Amino acid sequence: MAARAGVVVVGGGAAGMFAAIRAAALAPGLRVTVLEKGRDLLQKVSISGGGRCNVTHDCRDPRELVKFYPRGSRELRGMFSRFAAQDTIDWFAARGVCLKTEPDGRMFPTTDDSATVVGCLLQAAQAAGVEILTRRPVRAARRTEYGFMVDLAEGTSLVADRLLIASGGMRGGGEREVVESLGHTIVEPVPSLFSFHIDDPRLSGLAGLAVPETALRVSGMKDLASSGPVLVTHWGLSGPGILKLSAWGARRLAACNYEFTLEIDWLPALPAAGVTDALAAGRRNQPRKQVATAACVDLPRRLWERLVAAAGVPAERTWTELRREETRALGEQLKASRFAVAGKTLNKDEFVTCGGVPLDEVDLRRMQSRRVPGLFFAGEVLDIDGLTGGFNLQAAWTGGWIAGEGLAGTAD
Ligand SMILES: Cc1cc2nc3c(=O)[nH]c(=O)nc-3n(C[C@H](O)[C@H](O)[C@H](O)COP(=O)(O)OP(=O)(O)OC[C@H]3O[C@@H](n4cnc5c(N)ncnc54)[C@H](O)[C@@H]3O)c2cc1C
Repeated sequence: MAARAGVVVVGGGAAGMFAAIRAAALAPGLRVTVLEKGRDLLQKVSISGGGRCNVTHDCRDPRELVKFYPRGSRELRGMFSRFAAQDTIDWFAARGVCLKTEPDGRMFPTTDDSATVVGCLLQAAQAAGVEILTRRPVRAARRTEYGFMVDLAEGTSLVADRLLIASGGMRGGGEREVVESLGHTIVEPVPSLFSFHIDDPRLSGLAGLAVPETALRVSGMKDLASSGPVLVTHWGLSGPGILKLSAWGARRLAACNYEFTLEIDWLPALPAAGVTDALAAGRRNQPRKQVATAACVDLPRRLWERLVAAAGVPAERTWTELRREETRALGEQLKASRFAVAGKTLNKDEFVTCGGVPLDEVDLRRMQSRRVPGLFFAGEVLDIDGLTGGFNLQAAWTGGWIAGEGLAGTAD
């Protein structure tokens, strides 16, 4: 026997909760039910940003904001003109959650605690009268003559006039089946925002070492490049510069099975001629010192030692003894170190999915399906994803906000 429900939201994450709150606030009296398969709502918000929740990014111009999305950049333009970073900041501030900006632009609650954000959303949902049902995995849904029939794994069903799918990135937890049961296709999901697996003597034993500025590119993939800090891990390389590269190259790197050559410029502020000059100055200024222990550029000491060794410079070689081919090889290590990447590392599950419901199947002015009337999508379930820095949650807030209007019927 099916129980009746006005609007049903599948997924109690950032997008689903934001949409439910918006719909319920816009249409008092409308029954809005969130079905969440997990024990708790907003689990990802809770662990996001290392438990501090990087809510959004301090980028107030929507035309600039779209540049941080490898997938969905063009389509987000219109969506951000309706609800963007400033609106997120204002929304939370109006409910007592003030955000602060870190030097790199990431915005966190002043409490540095994601519980503040989760608590705010739960309170807003309660105030708006949103009905929450946890531990309710949805198995499938279909359009019927009187709306939607939403089938729960437990064997019961709900009837909905309108349905929002906000089930997050497709990670093999039943999200795909629900989307397909409704007649939508899926752009094959692959991970974005991952670290690179590299087994190389230049990096072994250096875990924890960080280089604040690098330029990175993938050999043979002309326009695949990024820049930023790099962190050596136990398995290879990570850090913002690497994550950025993984995001822009998510699909191409998946296609080559994550086996490729990474080229690192460890001194991007210095042109090649500047490095030649620095090496000449090393020879001039410290002729009797060993090259391996007396660096001539600003790099972490242990990394310098490894690059010197990789250039074939013997440990006892002094600057004055440095041979021409060794100087050339050292310059190459500094400006274009080549590393064989053999796989990816999904660090603590901290990745997003590239892929999902194709954007041309959705009318993004309302987040409504072009295939099934009354069906809406928001959040990571769509083929939209951003870089690290608060951009993915921003896309979830934006999509949720717009879908909430569609669910409430105020945009009809
Ligand atoms: C560890 C980690 C840290 C992150 N940190 C940040 C950050 O600081 N800033 C940032 O911008 N982004 C961050 N992200 C990315 C960001 O959290 C996500 O992009 C965002 O949460 C997506 O929101 P969503 O509502 O679309 O999906 P989700 O938050 O994944 O929510 C989807 C919900 O749907 C539920 N669900 C799925 N299938 C079903 C079903 N069949 N039936 C019922 N319920 C279902 C899931 O249990 C889940 O609760 C992080 C991601 C991870 C993994």
